[in-house]
Amino acid sequence: MEQAGGGASLGLYGLGTMGAALALNILEKGFPLHVANRTAARTPAFLDAAGPLAGRATGHESLPAMVAAMPAPRALILMVDAGPAVDQSIEAALPHLAPGDIVADCGNADFHDTRRRAAALAARGIRFLGVGVSGGEEGARHGPAIMAGGEPDAWAALEPVLSAIAARHEGEPCAALLGPDGAGHFVKTVHNGIEYADMQLIAEVYGLLRHGMNRPPAAIASLFARWNGGRLRSYLVEITAEVLAATDPATGGPVVDVILDRAGQKGTGRWTVIEALRLGQSASAIEAAVAARAWSAEKPSREAGEAILGSPRQPVDLPEDALEGALLAGRIVAYAQGFRILQAASAEYGWNTDMARVAETWRAGCIIRSALLADIAAAFRAGDLPQGQLLLSPAFAADLRAALPALRRTVAAAALGGHPVPALSAALAFADTMAQARGTADLIQAQRDYFGRHGFVRLDTGTAGQHGPWAG
Ligand code: NDP
Repeated sequence: MEQAGGGASLGLYGLGTMGAALALNILEKGFPLHVANRTAARTPAFLDAAGPLAGRATGHESLPAMVAAMPAPRALILMVDAGPAVDQSIEAALPHLAPGDIVADCGNADFHDTRRRAAALAARGIRFLGVGVSGGEEGARHGPAIMAGGEPDAWAALEPVLSAIAARHEGEPCAALLGPDGAGHFVKTVHNGIEYADMQLIAEVYGLLRHGMNRPPAAIASLFARWNGGRLRSYLVEITAEVLAATDPATGGPVVDVILDRAGQKGTGRWTVIEALRLGQSASAIEAAVAARAWSAEKPSREAGEAILGSPRQPVDLPEDALEGALLAGRIVAYAQGFRILQAASAEYGWNTDMARVAETWRAGCIIRSALLADIAAAFRAGDLPQGQLLLSPAFAADLRAALPALRRTVAAAALGGHPVPALSAALAFADTMAQARGTADLIQAQRDYFGRHGFVRLDTGTAGQHGPWAG
């Protein structure tokens, strides 16, 4: 039987959706595993359902019982709800942990919490890994993308297990150490932010086809399936085609038509936006997607709005290739904005995150896997990024130049037809802003100086602290 690296005994706490799937994946790859769950009855149920794989598993009544029974050194994987559950689990395990043991939090933690936990455990000689796992239940069971943060020796101890269970892209595991402490969870957070943007961009294009061009879901499904054979190839476009093709057994109509149009969110998209702003960035396409989900939740207000204001929806007439180009341009901007946040965070926290490795880790297993990621990895590896901007790398600049007219046409048609496309619009505004050497912040600086004597830099002399000739 294989062992985790360094001979550590391996335990997994939290047999919910993700934990159970991850545990089966670990067992299937030949690693013996101790398992436990807060609600103790879930553990025998898991072992029953595991069938022959249960042979390598040892179930325990509780977390303390499990940790106490595990031979040192131990590697404890936590797969519980993000937030207080992680702190409570660490507290419960701590009396039975010894220096040299490893705790790996594989949930969707806020990276600030991960930094705090890593520091607190390091003070007791316990090594902490903050591990982002993407790919949903299916990914966890058969190969997720794994984004780790922590110290190299802790990673080295768990790497054989995590690489074995990870998704593979052309044989290479999509699992990597991306920096110390919170780096892995931060990368996972930004992954989810990009996921929000990509889903919203797809939904906006769907909206134009459905509500602006009156296409039935089945026809839109075929279009997405076709696009998935080209530059837009990705998991999200693929599942969109499948979702739109699905029929509701109760009504015989499209499933999408029986679903309430209120999107849920668990917070990682919002965290991406908050952290971007804290870092002096704006991931506007991601921000737009978070806003769109929030607005979607205000169903009664939207119903009142339609009754009072009248729906602005008019037919739109757009060629399919304009919509395809718009989606591609929007996606490029969403990725580029995501990487800008990662670059800013890596600089701020001294993570030295390898951006090519991030892109490589996302090539399989995760929700945002797409054909573009290999190009993104190649662009970072080549290091040919003017001003560090992915958007300006030769591969993406060419793509964006080609797709931008389609995005512009789509956003213009959507605006005239009264179809809200917040993420597409945000992507266009960002691309247009980044393509103009001289913008309009000269006026902003003049205004700031007028009311607050904030001073400005003179363009002709380069001198800072200048003031305008305004009175007072
Ligand atoms: P589930 O709701 O299916 O399972 C939650 C697990 O956490 C259960 O085992 C539950 O135990 C345990 N738990 C909750 N609160 C506590 C607590 N206070 N102390 C100890 N254990 C507790 O959630 P998921 O498996 O979906 O999610 C687990 C983690 O994985 C989360 O951080 C989530 O964000 C992340 N994640 C989820 C993905 C998904 O697609 N679902 C994808 C990627 C990451 P009990 O059985 O006793 O309730």
